[in-house]
Amino acid sequence: MNGEPSRRMAEERDAADPLAGLRDRFVIAEPDLIYLDGNSLGRLPAATPDHLARVVRQEWGTDLVRSWSTWIDWGRRLGDTLAAHVLGARPGEVVVSDSTSVNLYKLAAAALDARPGRRTILVDAEEFPTDRYLLQGLAEQRGLTLRTLPSDLDEGLTVTDVRDALDGDVALVVLSAVSYRSGSLLDLGAVTAAAREAGAYVLWDLSHAAGSVPVELAANGVDLAVGCTYKYLNGGPGAPAFLYVRRELQGGLRQPIQGWFGQRDQFRMGPRYEPAPDVDRFLVGTPPILSLAALEPALAVFAEAGIDRLRAKGMALGELMVDLADAWLTPLGFTLASPRDPRRRGSHVSLAHPDALRISRALISEAGVVGDFRTPDRLRLGPAPLYTRFVDVWDALDRLRDLVARGVHEQLPVASPRVT
Ligand SMILES: *Cc1c(COP(=O)(O)O)cnc(C)c1O
Repeated sequence: MNGEPSRRMAEERDAADPLAGLRDRFVIAEPDLIYLDGNSLGRLPAATPDHLARVVRQEWGTDLVRSWSTWIDWGRRLGDTLAAHVLGARPGEVVVSDSTSVNLYKLAAAALDARPGRRTILVDAEEFPTDRYLLQGLAEQRGLTLRTLPSDLDEGLTVTDVRDALDGDVALVVLSAVSYRSGSLLDLGAVTAAAREAGAYVLWDLSHAAGSVPVELAANGVDLAVGCTYKYLNGGPGAPAFLYVRRELQGGLRQPIQGWFGQRDQFRMGPRYEPAPDVDRFLVGTPPILSLAALEPALAVFAEAGIDRLRAKGMALGELMVDLADAWLTPLGFTLASPRDPRRRGSHVSLAHPDALRISRALISEAGVVGDFRTPDRLRLGPAPLYTRFVDVWDALDRLRDLVARGVHEQLPVASPRVT
């Protein structure tokens, strides 16, 4: 690098940024706060409060039960919006329902049922906890083997690692497209193709990918996927998740939770469960309409932004962060804990430091920079390309180096809080 990037340079990048105007679509309640945790809870879209107020007052308050004639389709309609503008899937392949955890259970169980005789499930040893716990439970219930793939904490798995682990006994592979800790990014198309050749399904967890990288589910031939809508997609705390099932597979997969929203001709209320012929069969029960409503304005912004432009900006923000970390933070004991190549990384960057927990807390309380801590010693910083500016990255790392150089974090107690 030819000297460290200057703040002036960051300002110029913002001035030239085609997405810069979209920051105004979000509530920035504290202008001096630098928010780098949009990968955990995305910001509130400015249009959401009024939209929710209208749904509450008009659709619930006035129209009452009559509103179900439109509410009934929301999970499907929002799924199609996600498919078109975020996931690169075809209409009728995505629905919004339940949580990521529950959707993962439904699709994992359906995939296992479709591979009778095969007795192994593969998962990344460093996969997000809920995914590992759910698969442990499924394996125990069914007498299957859950095999964990050792993976590098910072670099993640490679296509070769996955290919080498596949054999004729593997029914299902569960992987994150973007790892929650390091941000390492896997090649969805190559992994899916390798698994298909071995006769296994891959179920992708897109929680940290959706809204930050183009996952192109149709072009990559992906069979199954789930993911959150409250991270980069800004649907709000606990917003319902999405699930994707490739159209050609839908009729042949049975999900394990046989609720009435998955029933063919739901309102005939027939005597026996008979799954809907399409993606609706993966629904379960009455959806949380107020939470679904919050997704409408949140997803509208993605149609305007375009996922390719978001990816380009996300990579540029990440590169600026890594350049500044090299120049300022390495001398203070930090090491990069994410792939260095931006093409192998999602939108967030992790930095390892022995005192990362106290640093992440001091950064919030003393420097007005919100990132988060992940075990064992990672400070995770997630610029969200919809609303994070280049100067935000510059200022955040400037505040971070100043805080650590002055030892401010060393004044905090060592005990850990309940939520990190
Ligand atoms: C955030 C996240 C989840 C969260 O699942 P919930 O059911 O919404 O709690 C699951 N998987 C991954 C990979 C995540 O990053």
